[in-house]
This record gives sequence, structure tokens and C-alpha cells, in this order.
Amino acid sequence: MTPELMSAGRERLQDRRDREASAAALGGSGGRRAGYSRPHQPGTLDLTHGRILYLEDVSVSFDGFQALKQLSLDIAPGELRCIIGPNGAGKTTLMDIITGKTRPDSGRVFFGSTIDLLRHSEAEIASMGLCRKFQKPTVFEALTVFENLELALKAPRGVAAALWHRLSGEQRDRLDEVLGLIQLSEHWQRPAGLLSHGQKQWLEIGMLLMQAPKLLLLDEPVAGMTDQETERTAELLLSLTPQHSLVVVEHDMSFIARIAQTVSVLCEGALLAQGTLAQVQADERVIEVYLGR
Ligand code: ADP
Ligand code: MG
Repeated sequence: MTPELMSAGRERLQDRRDREASAAALGGSGGRRAGYSRPHQPGTLDLTHGRILYLEDVSVSFDGFQALKQLSLDIAPGELRCIIGPNGAGKTTLMDIITGKTRPDSGRVFFGSTIDLLRHSEAEIASMGLCRKFQKPTVFEALTVFENLELALKAPRGVAAALWHRLSGEQRDRLDEVLGLIQLSEHWQRPAGLLSHGQKQWLEIGMLLMQAPKLLLLDEPVAGMTDQETERTAELLLSLTPQHSLVVVEHDMSFIARIAQTVSVLCEGALLAQGTLAQVQADERVIEVYLGR
């Protein structure tokens, strides 16, 4: 892969926000926080209290508008948590806070029992294995499927190292495994720009998987997908647990029904209800504000 190819791929990225986001997710070698490329070494995550993510009384406001109001949330290791709620409920803001993109006005946010996420930059948080998939796919369109995965694996070492580093046998095995998981084994040589929308989304999930994430956050992963792609995405996410913990924000209720364990319903920045899908679907308040009658 040449630097020309890489920059061509970058230029095709949709907009600046996604470009910065993917740079941060890949270890922060570009974007706003260029100074934070040194990977954080947290050792093993302390899961002794049975939670991989813990938010307590988190509040944030934008120009006086309270987007999150004393929100508390617990995610267990290996869990696949679904978060639903009307537009403007604060779901994306919640992900912004967990990943360090937005700082809360008050509250606590912990990764495992000991890592205070509010003390770390966005790039450091990504390098700890807390990875986020944005709504829009941000793959490098001019690069092949294989090269995208390869880049995701190497990028934390820095771009120069990425260009010269050769994959170890173990990394090569991991890449093959991820290609299979995201059902792109047969398309490994295709430029990512030629993939369908659904395949691009899977490739991006694959790029996150190359970084061996401990917790994956996915914001509306099946938006714009066909029914068949949606079904395959459900299978993919189910196959990732319990090795990985997942937090999935989605509006598509048939998709939620397919993957749900515990569902948290957010409304006006607060937790309105939480339980199994059947429990929250039967909740009068949830019916009122979100599901409709
Ligand atoms: P959801 O993802 O549940 O639809 P969001 O988290 O995107 O909701 O937004 C919650 C509220 O916070 C919305 O009213 C939105 O306009 C506001 N908001 C979110 N991010 C910002 C920001 N960076 N600046 C100003 N307002 C914001
Ligand atoms: Mg949103």
C-alpha cells in the first residue's frame, strides 16, 4: 500500500467529523488530538465488580439544554445491551461521553472497576479497547477490504510503522478470522468503495475487531440496510458475545427483538425503563413516548 493510495482513500471520506472520529478510533495519529498517539497500557481490565462499564449520575447540557440528566448505567462483561428511545433522547450523547468525545458536567464514568474514563482522552480510550462504530461507514474506499483490516491492525503503531510492518502469523490468522466473521472472505481483494452499504458497515465492524476491543459501541448499525443485511448483522453481533461486550443503539425494533438481552429505554436524557424487551414493551410510559399505541 502506497502513501498515495492512503491519501486517496482519506479524501473520499465523507466529512471532517467522521475523518476525525476514525483517526481517534485508530489511535489518534490525525485529528484534533494529534498529541495523544501513545497507546495507553491498562493491563487487564478489572472486572471484579461484575461490570465492564459503569456510569453514575452523568449530566451534560449544551447551551442550557440538558441532554443527559443524572443518567446511571451498568454493563456486565459479555453483555449485549440494547439502548432505544426517541430522537433527541441522548443516545448518541451517551456514546460521546463514554468515548471521551464529550465531557459531562457532572457524574462518574468507569471502564472496569478502576479506569476513570473522564481522566483520559478520546484516543487513549480507544486504545484501551473501548471502540465505537459511528453511524456512517468510514472505511478507506480506495483500499481493498484486506488493506482496510490490515491498516486497522497496524495504525496504533503509527502510519510510518504501518507501511513497513509485516503481519505476524498470528495477526494474519486474526485477519482471516475477522474476514470470515464479517462474511467478506470472498471479497478480500475488492476496493472497499465497491462494497454494498451493508458490507461497508461490516468491514468497519471488522476494523474495530482487529483492535481486539473489550467493549464495542454501535450507533444505529442497521440503518439503511436491507432486511437480509439486517439479519446478517444480527447474527454477526450475536456471534461476538460473550467474548466482547456490546452496547447497541438502534431504532429497528425487529432487529432489537432478534438480539436483545437487556433493553434500556432513554427518554429526555434519563433512563425511562429497563428490562427484557417484553418488559419494556409492556411499560405504559415506554408505549406513550416511544413505541406508540
Ligand atoms: P439521540 O441520539 O438519542 O437522537 P442525541 O444524543 O443526538 O440524541 O441528542 C440529544 C440532544 O442533545 C438533542 O436535543 C441534540 O440536539 C443535543 N445535542 C447533542 N449533541 C450536541 C452538541 N454537541 N451541541 C449541542 N447540542 C447537542
Ligand atoms: Mg443518535
